[in-house]
Amino acid sequence: MSFNIAIDGPSGAGKSTIAKRLANELSFVYVDTGAMYRAMALYFLRKQIAPQDETAIAAACDQIDITIAYEDGVQCVILNGENVNAYLRAEEVGNMASSTSIYPCVRTKLTALQQKLAKTSDVIMDGRDIGTCVLPKAQVKIYLTADVAARAKRRYDELIKKGVEADYAQIEADIRKRDDRDMHREISPLRQAEDAILVDSSRLSIEEVLAVLRDIYKKAEGNK
Ligand code: C5P
Repeated sequence: MSFNIAIDGPSGAGKSTIAKRLANELSFVYVDTGAMYRAMALYFLRKQIAPQDETAIAAACDQIDITIAYEDGVQCVILNGENVNAYLRAEEVGNMASSTSIYPCVRTKLTALQQKLAKTSDVIMDGRDIGTCVLPKAQVKIYLTADVAARAKRRYDELIKKGVEADYAQIEADIRKRDDRDMHREISPLRQAEDAILVDSSRLSIEEVLAVLRDIYKKAEGNK
């Protein structure tokens, strides 16, 4: 049976950085489920579908084929045959992903793909509903969070480092809006699974968070 580690939490808590590093150390496959929601959002944006237009979104879902490939250990999202990784991190795509991930047609499609990946490989999967819906039997469940100010500061610093102009107040407002949407949607809202371990990264470095997760994994591995 494969070993599954689920990491959920709000945007900007450091899930992907931590999950990638840990997957590398443990030789697990890293699955970034947010990238899959972003790839679907990219398709809707390219087709100029409004996020409120559920009928058009449901029809578009039937036109979308998403698969995952790994190149040098990096996850590539393949949207109808095209590697779309280069387009997924734009703010516009993230906001569209948050607005369209509320629809059952979008979630059903991606949940099935995620469950298939976790069945055949040892995975560290990060997202919003992994411990609660996608992999309810995951051997390790982490809820990784951080306060809004810490997350906004990290995002701001990341953009400035890249030479991109950034407005701190706007970033903080976007994070609040996205948290609100992700936590209060009807289907699979972001919440801590009852058996998930809470890790607050607000005042921890990446190395410190990694050390905490490594310990959690070792204990679970030992109990297998
Ligand atoms: O994690 P990331 O910011 O890339 O996710 C983009 C959006 O995709 C989130 O705001 C959330 O609405 C959605 N998402 C989701 N379920 C997941 C992963 C992401 O609803 N498992």
